Amino acid sequence: MAGAEKQPFYDLAIIGGGLVGASLACALDPLAMKTVVVESVAYRAATQPSYDDRTLALSASSCAILRGLGLWSKIASSATPIREIQVRELDRPGRVLMSPSELGLDRFGHVVEARAFGAAMAEILPNLKNTDVVCPVSLVSLEPQEEACRLTVRDDDGERSFRARLVVGADGAESFVRKSLGIEAERHDYNQSAVICNVTPEQDHQGRAFELFTPSGPMAVMPHLNGRCGLIWCVPTREVAALMDLSEAEFMRRANLRFGQRLGRFLKMGKRSAYPLKLVRALEDVRPRAVVIGNASHAIHPVGAQGFNLGLRDAAVLAEVLADGLRDRSRNDGRFDPGSWDLLCRYSAWRKPDHDGTIAYSDGLARLYSNPSPLASAGRLAGLLAHAFVPSLRRQLAVKSMGYRGHIPRLARGESL
Ligand SMILES: Cc1cc2nc3c(=O)[nH]c(=O)nc-3n(C[C@H](O)[C@H](O)[C@H](O)COP(=O)(O)OP(=O)(O)OC[C@H]3O[C@@H](n4cnc5c(N)ncnc54)[C@H](O)[C@@H]3O)c2cc1C
Repeated sequence: MAGAEKQPFYDLAIIGGGLVGASLACALDPLAMKTVVVESVAYRAATQPSYDDRTLALSASSCAILRGLGLWSKIASSATPIREIQVRELDRPGRVLMSPSELGLDRFGHVVEARAFGAAMAEILPNLKNTDVVCPVSLVSLEPQEEACRLTVRDDDGERSFRARLVVGADGAESFVRKSLGIEAERHDYNQSAVICNVTPEQDHQGRAFELFTPSGPMAVMPHLNGRCGLIWCVPTREVAALMDLSEAEFMRRANLRFGQRLGRFLKMGKRSAYPLKLVRALEDVRPRAVVIGNASHAIHPVGAQGFNLGLRDAAVLAEVLADGLRDRSRNDGRFDPGSWDLLCRYSAWRKPDHDGTIAYSDGLARLYSNPSPLASAGRLAGLLAHAFVPSLRRQLAVKSMGYRGHIPRLARGESL
């Protein structure tokens, strides 16, 4: 093993170049900090876990962040605007109709396929000026030391080590970084899995997104390109294998029955994938010289489509805290340490209200709508009707689900870092 003095030295190492880690790399590159991104699965590989077939609903604040990072222009042609959101409960009267016009907007956000993101990232990352991208390479050991962390990575050629002043764990729900740091996580198994696929309905979706709550799990239909929609159907995990094995005709028949033909019948469908649904929340998000962000910090239920949006705000806030630290270095003899404990604590305190609020929202919805008790049922009906008839409640809900919660980072406000 090379001695410490021979090992490459970085300001920052981002472990996991998925949706959140790669976005952070794009945000940080103009700050001219020497950065490395370590990603274990090739960007265009069919097995890439972050950039797969799932459709992502991006909130307005996420779209603003992506614009600020220069990423939006690369994915805009594959993005579909969300012009209305309809929420209802199976076999219940009433529905909540949310229109962006109530907020003076013409859209809530956009729907983009995660794979389109991956294609854009594969193009952008190699051209970043201050960022090395090593892929497919996995982190296999992490050792925090006083001045920097020592990291060992492995690929087909063997192992090598380097050091970084700050390690960012953006390596997903089963984060190796989080576990190496000894950070415990709270877990809840929803005993549900999401089956996703594209469907083509008879009628034009006109930018409408639908969320249907059922006792066995929510179903979402999101507007997508060329008249297609992204279907996300959450079912009890014990039923998922049978649903995956159904013929296409039978799958669509059941999906039509459940969804209720709000867009006419589904006529065609694409490949199905299934995801077990769990809440995994790190009990801490910073340790000396390390921070966990995105799913490594909080993997949540997809109801309400908040997961990546929340992780992208982590990236935007971390980038802002580091940019401010860099600007303030004149007050610190010109020295800047991206792994300084003060900066990490500032990041953590800033993110806490958004983490708490967003996780409570998605976890609360997932649990409330699968609770069979009469009290929960009455509460659901009251909540739905209140939102259907009280515009101010609808507006509050819309603003929060658009990612405007707590202290909003500059990138989400459309300003530069
Ligand atoms: C069915 C479904 C639908 C969803 N819909 C939405 C939606 O509409 N809107 C929304 O905002 N969110 C949605 N989400 C959530 C969203 O997909 C996640 O929040 C997002 O993928 C998190 O990104 P991430 O980069 O933090 O983690 P990941 O996507 O898990 O990426 C982690 C990356 O780290 C890499 N990695 C792991 N270990 C290592 C290692 N040791 N060394 C190097 N690299 C490593 C992995 O290869 C991967 O590329 C949905 C999720 C599901 C399951």
